[in-house]
Amino acid sequence: MVRRKYKTNSAIELMNVSNRGRPAGMVPAIAAPLPHDVDVSFEFFPPADLAAEAQFAATLHKLEPLEPEFVSVTYGAGGTTQERTLETVAKIRRNTRLEPAAHLTCIGATRDQVDAVARQIWDAGINRIVALRGDPPKGANHYTPFPGGYAYAADLVAGLKRIADFKIAVACYPEVHPEAANADADIDNLKRKVDAGANMAISQYFFDTDVFLRYLERVRAAGIAIPIIPGILPVTNFKQVAKFSKMCGTRVPNWMAEVFEGLDDDPETRRLVAASIAAEQCRILHANGVSRFHLYTLNHSTLGYAICHMLGVRPRAIAKAA
Ligand SMILES: Cc1cc2nc3c(=O)[nH]c(=O)nc-3n(C[C@H](O)[C@H](O)[C@H](O)COP(=O)(O)OP(=O)(O)OC[C@H]3O[C@@H](n4cnc5c(N)ncnc54)[C@H](O)[C@@H]3O)c2cc1C
Repeated sequence: MVRRKYKTNSAIELMNVSNRGRPAGMVPAIAAPLPHDVDVSFEFFPPADLAAEAQFAATLHKLEPLEPEFVSVTYGAGGTTQERTLETVAKIRRNTRLEPAAHLTCIGATRDQVDAVARQIWDAGINRIVALRGDPPKGANHYTPFPGGYAYAADLVAGLKRIADFKIAVACYPEVHPEAANADADIDNLKRKVDAGANMAISQYFFDTDVFLRYLERVRAAGIAIPIIPGILPVTNFKQVAKFSKMCGTRVPNWMAEVFEGLDDDPETRRLVAASIAAEQCRILHANGVSRFHLYTLNHSTLGYAICHMLGVRPRAIAKAA
């Protein structure tokens, strides 16, 4: 095993040489040819009202020509958006060429109720589900499985596979799920989800690319072979994200606080900074053999579109002409 020093956005580290012919961590200069092997997916939440629906439709319209692998729609904390999630994925199926994926959680519902939702998803012509345990509703400190419900995501995955041949994505945590006993227990849990039938995993967002790459090594060493797709969150509201990151266990590096310093009242510059940080994250990961990215869009197209553009993901007609 060859080990060499490489430079990332946060530190000089020792890493293995990737098996894709390029030394691990060598980040191509911006002028290097764009990669043409990148696949993206986008995450949305169901729009809450008519104005949000119009904005969401515009977002889909802008992102559709990029031909993402799939677009997923979240399920509100505490299971609160069940109907809107369903309506939204069904609309995407009916009105676009996009491949919708419905998030589904175990929260606040019996197995029969969750199964019924899964059947509705399948009957709407949707075969992709992002299967999650879910977070408890606001105010509840601890997670308690719902009586007669699926207790954990692994149980949900097994249940879904009994209903239909869904393509199932699950969540994974490069910085360890806050409730997991330790990092190994967390990877054991991912393995349980894979053994239950998960086809891919999407990661919690992170900012330190080394953290993701080391996690990927540990996952592979544990014998998990499914695609592990990094979740990329372009940060437009640094203060809010810093607060939320504490709850979900994502470390916010010092350099990020510095980069956003003085921009509290300058959303336009924050957006430009957000796109360049996220694109750099993706380029470093790509240089280390990662070619699929899941972008948390917050229902806006601008940043996601710009990041895709920088990764060589272009509307098909333009890519052909080039
Ligand atoms: C990509 C992505 C998308 C998300 N989308 C949504 C969404 O749409 N709606 C939403 O509400 N939330 C969503 N979440 C948040 C997610 O619901 C929370 O992170 C939740 O706390 C854990 O969900 P999970 O599916 O990872 O749970 P699990 O895989 O079930 O794990 C949860 C915790 O329980 C532990 N555990 C697992 N099995 C057992 C067991 N048998 N006994 C004891 N402990 C066990 C695990 O180690 C872990 O600490 C998303 C997260 C990600 C990363």
